[in-house]
Amino acid sequence: MSLFRDDGIVLRTQKLGEADRIITLLTRTHGRVRAVARGVRRTKSKFGARLEPFSHVDVQFFARGSELIGRGLPLCTQTETIAAYGQPIVGDYARYTAGTAMLETAERFTDHEGEPNVQQYLLLVGGLRTLASGERTPGMVLDAFLLRSLAMGGYAPSFEDCAKCGLPGPNRFFSIAAGGVICGDCRVPGSVVPSPEALRLLGALLTGDWPAAEAAESRHVREGSGLVSAYLHWHLERGLRSLRFVEKG
Ligand SMILES: [Zn+2]
Repeated sequence: MSLFRDDGIVLRTQKLGEADRIITLLTRTHGRVRAVARGVRRTKSKFGARLEPFSHVDVQFFARGSELIGRGLPLCTQTETIAAYGQPIVGDYARYTAGTAMLETAERFTDHEGEPNVQQYLLLVGGLRTLASGERTPGMVLDAFLLRSLAMGGYAPSFEDCAKCGLPGPNRFFSIAAGGVICGDCRVPGSVVPSPEALRLLGALLTGDWPAAEAAESRHVREGSGLVSAYLHWHLERGLRSLRFVEKG
C-alpha cells in the first residue's frame, strides 16, 4: 500500500454506486490516472466540488497493491484546488464546447494509463488557463491545442514546406494522408486547395503566433478549423464526439 501525490486536471467523472465517483485525471508525473473519490456525490461535499471536470487540483492518492492500476483503483484521499477553471469555462457555451473537446483529446492522446506525458499535461493546463481567461477566441484556443497535441503525438502537419519532398513553401495543395501541404509534383488524388490565409493561420496557431492568428478573417478561421478537425479525425481513426458541438467562427 502506498501514498502518492500529484497535480492533475480532471478529465471526467463517472458515477460509482450511491455516493462515489470514478475520477479520470491527467497528472503531471503519473500520466492518466483513474481513481475513486468516496462520498463526493453528497450535496455538501466540498471534496466533490473540487473534483469536477476542468479543475486543476493537487491530489493525494492511496494505492492498494504495488501497482498504480492493479487489482483496485487508487483512492483520492485529499484534494486541494490549484485553479478552478470549471466555473469560467462551464458558464460559457463556446468555451465549454471547446474545453470539452480539449479534455477528450487529451484523454485520447494519453492512451496508456500511468505512463507520464508531461508535455501533454502542460499543454492542457496552458490551454485551459487561456480558455478560462477569455482572452482568446475559444475555437482558436481549441485549434491551437489540437495542432500542438498532434505535433507532440508525432503527427505535426506541415503548412509551409512540401510534406513529401520538402520544397520550401508556400505550397498550394493539402493532403491529410500526405501530412499537410504538398507541391504540384507531389500532388496526390484527393488533395484540396485551401486558401493561403487559412494555411497561414494554421501555421500561426501551431507556432503560437497569436497576433497573426487573430488577424485572420472569420471565414479563414472556419476553413482552418475544418482542416484541423479533418486532420485530427484521420489520425485518431474515429472522430471526437465533442468536436461536432464546437461553434465555429
Ligand atoms: Zn513536393
